[in-house]
Amino acid sequence: QRIGIPREVFPGEKRVATVPEVVEKLIKLGFSVAVESRAGDAANVSDADYQAAGASIVPDAATLWATSDIVFKVRGPTPDEVSLMREGGSLVSFIWPGQNPELMQQLAAKKTTVLAIDCLPRTLSRAQKMDALTSMAGVSGYRAVIEAANAFGRFFNGQITAAGKVPPAKVFVAGAGVAGLAAIGTAASLGAIVRANDTRAEVADQVVSLGGEFVKVDYEEEGSGGGGYAKVMSEGFQQAQRAMYAKQAREVDIIITTALIPGKPAPKLITAEMVQSMKPGSVIVDMAGEQGGNCELTVPGEAVVRHGVTIVGYTDLASRLAKQSSTLYATNLFRLTEELCKTKDGVIDVNMEDDAIRGLTVTKGGAITWPAPPPKAA
Ligand code: NAD
Repeated sequence: QRIGIPREVFPGEKRVATVPEVVEKLIKLGFSVAVESRAGDAANVSDADYQAAGASIVPDAATLWATSDIVFKVRGPTPDEVSLMREGGSLVSFIWPGQNPELMQQLAAKKTTVLAIDCLPRTLSRAQKMDALTSMAGVSGYRAVIEAANAFGRFFNGQITAAGKVPPAKVFVAGAGVAGLAAIGTAASLGAIVRANDTRAEVADQVVSLGGEFVKVDYEEEGSGGGGYAKVMSEGFQQAQRAMYAKQAREVDIIITTALIPGKPAPKLITAEMVQSMKPGSVIVDMAGEQGGNCELTVPGEAVVRHGVTIVGYTDLASRLAKQSSTLYATNLFRLTEELCKTKDGVIDVNMEDDAIRGLTVTKGGAITWPAPPPKAA
């Protein structure tokens, strides 16, 4: 079968769904690979690089979609892309079926088989190698620190130089999931003093192991809402949490927020008053912009200055590190392809008895198969 890689069409999207190193591996599994011309441009991968790895280059999107049995993409397809898709074709990409019912109907009408990489059952340890949510969150957490460092007027590490003594920057990370932990590790490696908080007590050890200090809210309530995710906290907890965050806001130079609750708007953790209380020149990077933001003053997609504080609300942090995120994403999709093609004969088999594959499959031959039942084995 032929795997096709279109150029991403979402404005500003720089990632691409495969890279030359992975093209070689897909070919070893028995597939042929076609790449739309200039698909890798924004990630610094040229057509010649793909060709050297064994891919063929096709001139335009229409040809790519029409001649591919399976399409690998990053962003979910637009209605135009679905219309280019082969009837009965297969697709692997981010889909977010819960937020995109119309797209799901269009994909079903085309009798497609679609594996939504965002629907991977993450509690299966076997699925970790395919977990693009984790790899993209890791890149984003790293990039959030780079954005903070770029907007901040001082060093992260403390220094004693002939020109004077420089104190280390203080960084507070709100939410210590995958992205938050990546941010903690990156900020600590640059030499900052890092503190972090999460409603799930279980992450405290991980914060410490990455070089951070876990700061507790003075209120007993467990924040786990099942499946490793958070729940909405009680009003009493939220009040106590706001008091602690207000104190941190006065003390630190940089706040990075990553707090999300599945299916709910992002919790508002940083109020306008807290922003006002920060030192001039401080920076907030709000990674929850797409879900409404953790900070009241965030403008999703933009960097703004409010009360002398730069608030970065970019929603494309992974795309801003396009080569790295494309390489990791491509590797996640390769690991998935291995699972779909155990016979290594260049033909995929979407085995609905397999927990991981079942979870990912949101349409099969035109039937909507989302949401999947919870996986049997953990
Ligand atoms: P996420 O992006 O949904 O949330 C980010 C963090 O925000 C979470 O740690 C959450 O607890 C925290 N948060 C939510 N509300 C908050 C509040 N009011 N105040 C402070 N913090 C708040 O989470 P994620 O990064 O996708 O990870 C979710 C979980 O899934 C983690 O436990 C992670 O380890 C787990 N996970 C497991 C696997 C695996 O085992 N294969 C793979 C990936 C992720």
